[in-house]
Amino acid sequence: MSIRVDNVNKRFGDFQALDSVSVEAEGGSLLALLGPSGSGKTTLLRVIAGLETADSGAIYYEDDDVTRQSARERNIGFVFQHYALFRHMTVFDNVAFGLKVRGWSKQKARDRVRELLSLVRLDALENRFPSQLSGGQRQRVALVRALAIEPKVLLLDEPFGALDAKVRQELRQWLRRLHDEIRVTSIFVTHDQEEAFEVADKVVVMHAGRVEQDGTPQEVFEHPANAFVMDFLGNVNVFHGRLQSGRAHAGGLELEYPDYPHDKAMPATLYVRPHELDLNRTSEGPSSLRVRVDRVNAAGSIAKVFVYSDEFGVGMHVELSAERFAELHVQPGESLFVSPRRVRVFVPEAADVPEYVI
Ligand code: ATP
Repeated sequence: MSIRVDNVNKRFGDFQALDSVSVEAEGGSLLALLGPSGSGKTTLLRVIAGLETADSGAIYYEDDDVTRQSARERNIGFVFQHYALFRHMTVFDNVAFGLKVRGWSKQKARDRVRELLSLVRLDALENRFPSQLSGGQRQRVALVRALAIEPKVLLLDEPFGALDAKVRQELRQWLRRLHDEIRVTSIFVTHDQEEAFEVADKVVVMHAGRVEQDGTPQEVFEHPANAFVMDFLGNVNVFHGRLQSGRAHAGGLELEYPDYPHDKAMPATLYVRPHELDLNRTSEGPSSLRVRVDRVNAAGSIAKVFVYSDEFGVGMHVELSAERFAELHVQPGESLFVSPRRVRVFVPEAADVPEYVI
């Protein structure tokens, strides 16, 4: 069952919460809506669910236009951030609830509940009440409760948002495995880039009610469509500078930029991810910059080095592999040269200027 959102607009009073949004989730895929707070992710999810009506545009489940259908008619499973389990019901009864309401026979409902609880390894806990479960276990119950009614679509709104980092991590992998097994088309909302990238087949990056980019996690990370996406995906060094006569100048770095041959200077922002910067003992040419090592954090498989250019007043985060770090024997206070392996240049207000990668 594929889901297609076609040019949806939604206003709350004067506020445009969704602005010409089009999104497609292939049948059986897991799609993440990723974006900062207030970007419209939850509103979009609720429009897809039928819990909110679009002002214009259409929603299709496969070839069916479901825009005017209620949430119930759409047959969706919905999981909220705060596990809305019934406190006075056991795990078993919570999962069976939707089936009872829909008139399933006792025997059929029992088989379905047991099958699902065993799928998420909670069969031993079926007689417990929600207060006797951990947060992660409760959210797993909420998930299988949503799946019990055999929904055509599973929608999850920050499903792991209320859990601590370690449990979130476990549940993500668990959601991915569960999805691989049941293959219900699923859309989940998150503001956590790592979560979206680890779990989803496709990521839709939202900002101010619009879709900034969609693609596989790798496409979005490797080829961010614009400065917002690059910035939002975190961990990036930002240099403000200019383009002029086929070159980009920023923060003491100077690079070839043939796409802008003009003499008139044009403001531009250069983005370099920490792992795309190299440190060397000698200069590698004009794209090398002399820096002082300010701080070093070598705990873990990646060494994080913070360097500073006294001449240009810019600091940069560099990430080195443990091997490279050992080879260079980086010490705080010493002088080294930093050079980017890859730079992305974005020109403000001119989205059509191509991304340039050296
Ligand atoms: P978060 O991650 O914080 O949940 P989000 O990306 O899911 O954010 P939405 O919940 O979709 O964002 O909200 C988008 C914008 O629409 C916000 O500015 C919000 O205040 C506004 N909004 C959402 N629902 C309503 C409503 N019922 N009435 C008025 N404004 C609303």
